[in-house]
Amino acid sequence: MTKKPGDRIARQLDQAAEACAAKGGRLTDIRRSVLALIIGSGGPVGAYALLDQLKAERANAAPVTVYRALDFLMENGLIHKIERLNAFVACTESGDHEHHEHSVQFLICRKCGTVAEMEDHGIAAAVSKAAGRTGFRPDHATVEVEGTCGSCTSAA
Ligand SMILES: [Zn+2]
Ligand SMILES: [Zn+2]
Repeated sequence: MTKKPGDRIARQLDQAAEACAAKGGRLTDIRRSVLALIIGSGGPVGAYALLDQLKAERANAAPVTVYRALDFLMENGLIHKIERLNAFVACTESGDHEHHEHSVQFLICRKCGTVAEMEDHGIAAAVSKAAGRTGFRPDHATVEVEGTCGSCTSAA
């Protein structure tokens, strides 16, 4: 039996709801819808693109509705914001460990626009150590790296 992508998304949403509940949060319908759209997009998606899609199911959706949902999803480590692109991606670590905001690195391909998430603890530790030398205490660090992804490199 082949799994439809919808099944995978539904499973991820259920896991997300459980993770939020475990921390006393609630994945409300609107938060669930926003998360479903981000997972379903399969790549970085901006707040206004989300709002447009959301309006298809909720005509009264407002920007503030989307921003609040995005804040909740970020706080719960379910999505990340890519500052460089001003867009959001689903956390690909979801399901592997408890949801929390974590230090993460993004590899952004300039050619095809894909964004890959990595979590290299060595990088986070190095940033922390270097910052610590100046007396700075980082909470978490997101590193965004632009370049060419593996498939675009081999296609060239
Ligand atoms: Zn993540
Ligand atoms: Zn690429």
